[in-house]
Amino acid sequence: MVFYLKYRPQRIVDLDSEQVREKLSSIVLGKNLPHAFLFTGPKGLGKTSAARILAKIINCTNRKPSDPEPCNKCIQCKSITEGTNLDVMEIDAASNRGIDEIRDLREKIRLSPISAKKKVYIIDEIHMLTTEAFNALLKTLEEPPNHAVFILCTTEIHKVPDTIMSRCFQVVFKEASEGELVRSLQRVLRGEGMNVDKDALSQIASLSDGSFRDGVKILEEVARAAGRKKITKELIGESYKVSSITKDVYDLIDFLSQRDLKSAVSLINALEEKGTDARFFTEELVSQIHGVLLKKLGIVEGVSDVSLSIEEIKNLFALISESYSAVKYSFLPFLPLEIAVIDWSQKKDSIIGIPFEKTLEEPAPNGLTPKHDKILLDLIDVVKRDNYSIAGVLRACSIKINGKDAVIETPYKFHKERLDEPSTRSLLANTLNEMMGKKINLEIRLKE
Ligand SMILES: [Zn+2]
Repeated sequence: MVFYLKYRPQRIVDLDSEQVREKLSSIVLGKNLPHAFLFTGPKGLGKTSAARILAKIINCTNRKPSDPEPCNKCIQCKSITEGTNLDVMEIDAASNRGIDEIRDLREKIRLSPISAKKKVYIIDEIHMLTTEAFNALLKTLEEPPNHAVFILCTTEIHKVPDTIMSRCFQVVFKEASEGELVRSLQRVLRGEGMNVDKDALSQIASLSDGSFRDGVKILEEVARAAGRKKITKELIGESYKVSSITKDVYDLIDFLSQRDLKSAVSLINALEEKGTDARFFTEELVSQIHGVLLKKLGIVEGVSDVSLSIEEIKNLFALISESYSAVKYSFLPFLPLEIAVIDWSQKKDSIIGIPFEKTLEEPAPNGLTPKHDKILLDLIDVVKRDNYSIAGVLRACSIKINGKDAVIETPYKFHKERLDEPSTRSLLANTLNEMMGKKINLEIRLKE
């Protein structure tokens, strides 16, 4: 059986979110049990498991009022765990938007439970219900029979009508903290008698993006790859889609050392498209560059084939570290890294030191005249104050001005889309108008 099902929580104490444990214990120990609950939060945090536990607590025949936990041994508990209890109904509102089920529910809800104390309706993905089904449900919630309890679950609370929300006791499932994720993984480790070192455990936690379900899935994949070996951080690196990441990291370092900005940015774009984790990739990148540095310094054996000077590696480190802290707040997770890469490629120009007079006389290698370069740099400087990420995008662009016409060219389609957004366009046009002292017609173009 897969870990996620095998280690599905069966008691409140097994639930990994501390907040949820506290809220559920206090409500089931209280005098009046609400007749409707609403469990909200992102997927993979145990809402359905918690709903089943609650159904057991309500119907357990062995439970004392002072104990919040179900016994998991009586017929009621067992049949709920197995999904065969005729009085506990699980409805997936996403499958046919719930029309038939809600109609059926309304017909049968007046009938007493068959063998349990209460009928429990667990309705998953409640936000998917049609308006008609919501209205039918609302009527039932307004005058619920004493023998019925509703547990509604949703990942999208904003789609649940206020009229429904106001009649439910809400329990919020928040994205799991690293500590909670580690607790959840440890439950599996104990059960399987597995040995995982501490670093590896936090790495799995950081890969699982706040979801208990994802965390356990990753652990299972890694365990399968490990066989009888101990699970270490290195092993996760080899087995968990990281082998391809390692290659991408090497390629990126290669492009950076060759000043191949276009390939570097294309690679980052491809990473974004295939859904690579930006934080994890950046961590790997920093760790590889560190490896290169140690080889250059002769601290680690081996010859590095990367043609970067120690000074350059230092600059790269600083830029990439800065981008790492920005990932969390970035609308596009890879944008900070992209900006760092563009910044670095420009920084390198100044390290190499093209003589000043020469840049004034001859067009730069990208075919631009120094005058145009100056306009672009001024534009970036002004835009930076309003929008840091657009300034980053501009760094990979070129500009041509002819009388009243300005053309900003970018080699990347997704950059063009960003620059074409109405608010960005007007920011750029207004800035150019002010800089040039006249009304400019702005065009954003994709470079061939
Ligand atoms: Zn029981």
